[in-house]
Amino acid sequence: MISPSARRVAEANLPTRYGAFEMFVYDTPERKEHVALTLGAIGDGDPALVRVHSECLTGDVFGSNRCDCGEQLADSLRFLQGHGRGVLLYLRQEGRGIGLANKISAYALQEQGLDTVEANLALGLPEDMRDYRVAAEMLHDLGVRQARLLTNNPAKIEGLERHGVEVVERVPIRVPPNPSNLAYLRTKREKMGHLLQGVMPLETAQDGSA
Ligand SMILES: [Zn+2]
Repeated sequence: MISPSARRVAEANLPTRYGAFEMFVYDTPERKEHVALTLGAIGDGDPALVRVHSECLTGDVFGSNRCDCGEQLADSLRFLQGHGRGVLLYLRQEGRGIGLANKISAYALQEQGLDTVEANLALGLPEDMRDYRVAAEMLHDLGVRQARLLTNNPAKIEGLERHGVEVVERVPIRVPPNPSNLAYLRTKREKMGHLLQGVMPLETAQDGSA
């Protein structure tokens, strides 16, 4: 690995509605403050449950139905608490890395009929600019070398493994589709390789039967 770009700069206990976590803040040369919420002895050498969540202001904070981020975040924190041991990384890479303004501009294009990938391309942006190097560095700092990764996204597995964190198991994450996010979830499955088959009944959900 090249010299680490993420530096641990603060930590404290963080009691939440989901339970009590320890919170670590990491700083990077780009002045992005990334967060790790941990539970239990994750650095003891056994594979840790890991969720890598990318910031989504509209989904995480406002409860937007355009995506499934807010529900995935809440479900992940609940799931970690249920296990009593694990870590959630909260990466400040809004809109898959394109930033908030670009993400909202892409929403406007989607209102004209483009899907989430086509909208990014129309704005001259890649479909996904996320980088998992900083996530791997944070896990290394926390003593996690092997992960049981909570994800439906193969790119996250590759991203972590490329940077030295072995993914020993993929734990699927389940989010029920709603009428607003159905097209988004389908695009994630069909164009971005997300492993949603068997996880959510996208076809039956279309007519409201699921
Ligand atoms: Zn989102």
